Amino acid sequence: MSERALATIRRVLAVDPIEGADNIERLTIDGWQLVSQKGNFRPGDLCLYFEIDSVLPIRPEFEFLRSRCYVKRDWVEGFRIKTIKLRKQVSQGLALPPHEIFKGTFIADEGTDYTEALGVKKWDPPLDPQLRGKARGNFPHFIPKTDQARIQNVYKQYVYKYAEHTFEKTLKLNGSSMTVYVVDPMDSEDDEMEIHVCSRNLELDIENNKDNAFVATALRYSRFFTMPGRKLAFQGELMGPGIQGNREGLDRHEFYIFDIFDIERNRYLLPQERIELFATLSIWGFAVPQHVPILEAECKVLAYNLNSIIEDANSCISIVHPVGEGYVYKSNTDPDVSFKVISNKYLLKEE
Ligand code: AMP
Ligand code: MN
Repeated sequence: MSERALATIRRVLAVDPIEGADNIERLTIDGWQLVSQKGNFRPGDLCLYFEIDSVLPIRPEFEFLRSRCYVKRDWVEGFRIKTIKLRKQVSQGLALPPHEIFKGTFIADEGTDYTEALGVKKWDPPLDPQLRGKARGNFPHFIPKTDQARIQNVYKQYVYKYAEHTFEKTLKLNGSSMTVYVVDPMDSEDDEMEIHVCSRNLELDIENNKDNAFVATALRYSRFFTMPGRKLAFQGELMGPGIQGNREGLDRHEFYIFDIFDIERNRYLLPQERIELFATLSIWGFAVPQHVPILEAECKVLAYNLNSIIEDANSCISIVHPVGEGYVYKSNTDPDVSFKVISNKYLLKEE
């Protein structure tokens, strides 16, 4: 399921009482737990589930959310679904009986994605104008944009298929996604590779953007990126002043790499390949960017149940901040298998 599938038809797996609460109960939907009005669902029912970070449009059916969820920014307006805590119960998402929204016409199957049809948007604040910079074009089509599935959505599927895999456990840093890629120059005879810099969704214009934090930080490490002489994309998080409140208190911008994509072979390097390349590049004596902190190189995370995996992330601490955003786990053997586990402590504190 893509990150953008925010409103989907899902099955209610369990309905449980909440201690001391008469009017609400706890639903389990995939790996999510949420509070719902009592009596709306029985186990096995289909529901329309809105994931956290959905922004629901202003429509009469959603007006009941106004007092708790209304948000208005110049890039979005509606009802934002956040992680909340009610009666000591963490609640993530919103489940509604489908017939309340679709009236008599409802016939959808489990998994149907209604995000677009309902006009649900993702809560995704745009970059600060100071950081944004001048664009040169779209994000290149031959490199995947950075993204991670939420463990709550993929656990059931992964636990069967990948139980035997070991995973690299890395710290999830909350900065701004940055990609630096190197390719052969199109129109030159010398074999110096050419650097390109991208923010989350755009490629930036290097020549007219020398003061931009993405560009300036990338150029600091240009030898590191070009040294391999291979077509590679280095992906990481730009951290520092003016980004997400600079929670790590850095005094200058820093690039924390978490992935390297091999453009020619069209695949991500495995953790071990990435670390080896990193180590090789680090011995030459030129400036080296950071790597995100690796907490464990080989961990059999899917041998644990979902609650323990989430509980573990709740105690995540960041580089200097006592409340870390969470972890990203990457399979050591399959470059397409990875997921994020976000700390509920972090989600409850945020904004
Ligand atoms: P989110 O920030 O919730 O959209 O989660 C996905 C994003 O986490 C990716 O697009 C990356 O920009 C970012 N990220 C931060 N730390 C890591 C990490 N250690 N590994 C992979 N992605 C990371
Ligand atoms: Mn993020």
